Amino acid sequence: ESSKYGGSGYADGLDSRNQRDDFSDAKNSVGAYNTASDSKSNNKTAASTPGPDTVDERIKNVDPKMIEIITNEIMHNLSTVEWDDIAGLEHAKKSIMEIVVWPMLRPDVFSGLRGPPKGLLLFGPPGTGKTLIGKCIASQSCATFFSISSSTLTSKWVGEGEKMVKALFAVARMKQPSVIFIDEIDSLLTQRTDGEMEATRRIKTEFLVQFDGCGTTTDEDRILVIGATNRPQEIDEAARRRFRKRLYIPLPGKSGRQTIISNLLKKQGCSLSEAEIEDISIKTEGYSGSDMDGLCREAALGPIRALSDIKNVNLADIEPISHKHFIEALKQIRASVSQTDLQLYLDWDASYGSMG
Ligand code: ADP
Repeated sequence: ESSKYGGSGYADGLDSRNQRDDFSDAKNSVGAYNTASDSKSNNKTAASTPGPDTVDERIKNVDPKMIEIITNEIMHNLSTVEWDDIAGLEHAKKSIMEIVVWPMLRPDVFSGLRGPPKGLLLFGPPGTGKTLIGKCIASQSCATFFSISSSTLTSKWVGEGEKMVKALFAVARMKQPSVIFIDEIDSLLTQRTDGEMEATRRIKTEFLVQFDGCGTTTDEDRILVIGATNRPQEIDEAARRRFRKRLYIPLPGKSGRQTIISNLLKKQGCSLSEAEIEDISIKTEGYSGSDMDGLCREAALGPIRALSDIKNVNLADIEPISHKHFIEALKQIRASVSQTDLQLYLDWDASYGSMG
């Protein structure tokens, strides 16, 4: 199993937590030609789950090698992600629930004018929870989750990116409802056509063809493409229009930061009072969600650094994480997003963002 997943480099677009969640599940090794139904397939049509040895119509003309890569490395069995796992972002969460999750769960109600968008663009600074939202949407709408970054598409499979895009959509169709999450979508859909590599241009064309094809062959296609980007201004106009819904995912506010600290500390011995947690959340103005994660990890190492004999220490003797450890950690972990960048997001949101 390890040779299948480990060290291939194909999973570069995933964070480490993602890999742990996804690859620990034996169900992940299900072959595309033997799509045994899993817990997520309950609401799928019988056609989605052919018996062993049956080749699904939708993947008939797709290279089996590609299908295997897609199934093993891009499709993930997620552990459940709840809305509450995402701190703050109340506005984005509410509108995502109405606009994409309900329609995925009840396509019969959300048809015609109420039909969901095929594309959702999440833009904002790095580390603000865009990937987390993608996983949450898939989890909450009982959809199969496919996740890949544009750089993986354009650079890892040299010469095969185009075929990979085709295979990705074919497998997503077979496994629907599906969520296809594409990180760094700007580098795939860039407006800089001058000097654009021919291979990248072909991948982009194939992507747009597949994207446009979703839902046209059959009304029942339930595939949502989520693009995430830290550089929305790089996306060209034609591509931008295809993402009918464009949501700004900003840095967490004070209460968001407070929730992130509390949630992370819950899993660890700590002695911080509510007031101390609030104090840290005030001192972390401008920190992203992942900066907060980094801060808590740094603070958690505080008590360990005080130990003289780590090899023989008793777990119970380790000092709980306290306010002073956070104050120390604040010296090491700084906000990673600049004010200038934030203004760029606000400007782009004002011009092209969706209100809700
Ligand atoms: P992005 O896709 O926006 O770059 P991620 O979703 O990958 O960011 O977030 C990176 C990590 O930061 C997450 O795994 C999580 O630990 C933390 N994080 C970021 N935003 C939030 C949030 N709003 N609520 C809780 N955790 C968050």
